[in-house]
Parts: sequence; structure tokens; C-alpha cells
Amino acid sequence: MTKPLPDAAIQIQGLTKTYSGKTPKQALKGVDLAIPRGSIFGLLGPNGAGKSTLINIMAGLVTKTSGQVKIWDYDIDRQSRMARSAIGVVPQEITIDPFFTPRQSLELQAGLYGVPKGERNIMDILAVVGLADKANAYARSLSGGMKRRLMVAKAMVHRPPILVLDEPTAGVDVELRRQLWDQVRQLNARGVTILLTTHYLEEAERLCDEIAIINHGEIIAQDTTQGLLALFDAKVLEVRLDQTLDKVPELLAPWQPELRGNKLIFSYRPSQSPVNEILRAIRHAELEITDVSTKESDLEDTFVQLTQDAA
Ligand code: ADP
Ligand code: MG
Repeated sequence: MTKPLPDAAIQIQGLTKTYSGKTPKQALKGVDLAIPRGSIFGLLGPNGAGKSTLINIMAGLVTKTSGQVKIWDYDIDRQSRMARSAIGVVPQEITIDPFFTPRQSLELQAGLYGVPKGERNIMDILAVVGLADKANAYARSLSGGMKRRLMVAKAMVHRPPILVLDEPTAGVDVELRRQLWDQVRQLNARGVTILLTTHYLEEAERLCDEIAIINHGEIIAQDTTQGLLALFDAKVLEVRLDQTLDKVPELLAPWQPELRGNKLIFSYRPSQSPVNEILRAIRHAELEITDVSTKESDLEDTFVQLTQDAA
């Protein structure tokens, strides 16, 4: 009996989590999320937003307070074993036993997941993460980047269709970050759905097809990366003049530019006032332009705006 493939690799409804303690902390406040099968999905949010809590609930490491989580259509409460086998989680911290070789680590992990000896393909998995030639080296002799890749291999040892990476590039140098991005893209090209958390906007923008932004335990936006960028319809135009003004000319007042010496800085919405209208008005005001530059809004602006609105 084969099950039809689910549209959503992960489906979350009304998920809440309150950590008990002297001062109980509500880390998730009713999260709804659908992660399309086959996507590279980014869960983006500042530190403390609830990203790891969400991931750890999926991984079975944290118990939820309420709500429903389905992984590959398996409910984590009612079909926990199946749900667990459909997902591989790479936690935020590197946890590798220094005295095992990569091959031994993977054999051990495969054993934990009950993968039969004849079906383990350990060498294939090591090849996928570029560690085939390190199969028999002690883990302590691996570089930081190699250790991260070994963590990915461990998470993939039972061949789950979904791979979850919690802040895979936090505190990692630029070179290694690029390597990890390549790795993620290659796994995705092989059909693996990827969920990653990050607080790096550039990472989400470069790597992800779709992004959800989480802040204070709530999803405040979810869209395709393009859609999210378009949501924020704003640009900045900086105009340098051949003279210093002491007040904004009447003709330019509608745009409320900021005056900084010989510079006028316009924040505008391209959909409402095209840049040539602004430039025409400047010429009508009989001002001589010596230089012009514009700044695209990026995910950073969107993020700052959305997280401020929600604060
Ligand atoms: P993120 O991964 O986005 O940085 P976390 O999920 O780690 O966020 O944390 C969300 C909130 O829950 C934070 O306020 C954090 O302090 C709190 N928190 C996380 N883990 C625990 C825990 N084990 N006990 C109590 N509070 C926790
Ligand atoms: Mg975290």
C-alpha cells in the first residue's frame, strides 16, 4: 500500500508551547504553518522568537502544549514513529563523539533508527556530504565544516524526505556558509524538502523559495521570497545638489524629503510615485543635481518593518 505524496511536507495548526517554571514562558502562541513538499523553506526570526522550540517539537525533543503537527501527513501524537522516520533534524549545536569515525557515527545512528544493516548505504551518504575520504578518520580530526556536514549525514541516515536544519550557519565563516548552502541546494535537487531556521536575512533571501517570519512566538508573514520582497513597496532616492539648502523647496514638500546639507533623501513607494516624477519636481524647483542614487528595499527592510509593527 503506497500513500499518495502529501502537498504539505509539514502541516502545523494552532501550535502552542508554554515552558513551565517560576515564570512560565509562552514560546509559541498558536502557530499555523504549511511547508510545501519539495521546497527550501526558511523560518526567519530574531533570537528568542521560538524557532528552536518549533523545530524541537517536530523532532520529538520538546512536548507541545497544544495544537496539531503533521509530518509527511503523520500526526506526531498518533503516528509518532512514522512521523519521526519522515524527518531528519540537525540541531543548533554540534554534538559529535570525538572518538568515533564518521562511518562509526553513522552506523550507530542507523542502528538507533532501526535501519537494517543491508540497507544502510553509509558510504553513499558520506559521499553526498563530501566526506567519503574521511570515513575512517576520527571525528576530532575533522574541521568545523566537516563536523557540520557529518551532522547533516547523521540526520539523513534513515533517508527521510524532510531535512530540518536549525541555524545551520550561525557563527560560521562566509566560505563555509557558501558550502553549506550548496549542500542544501543539492539535497533539495534530489527531492528532499528542506526547512531551515535562520536569523540571517541574506541566507533566507538567497536560499529559500518560501519564507515565514516568526516573532515573539507568532508567524507574522508567510509568502514566497519574491512575494515577501514585493510586499514591502519602498525605495530610497538620494539626490545630491550643487548647493546647500536651508529648507525643503515648496515644490518638493509633497514627498517630505529629509534635508541633509546638500542632499535630499526621499523615501517613496515606487507603485505610487515613480522616480521620474520626483526628478521632474526637482528640476521645476530649479535645482542642479550633481549625483543620484537609489537603494532597493530588501528583506532586511521588510523584516525590520514587520517585527516593529508586531512589537
Ligand atoms: P529561537 O530559537 O528563535 O532563538 P527559542 O525557541 O530557543 O527561540 O526560544 C523561544 C523562547 O522560549 C525564548 O524566550 C526562550 O528564552 C524560551 N525558552 C526556550 N527554551 C526554554 C526552556 N527549556 N525553558 C524555558 N524557556 C525556554
Ligand atoms: Mg534557536
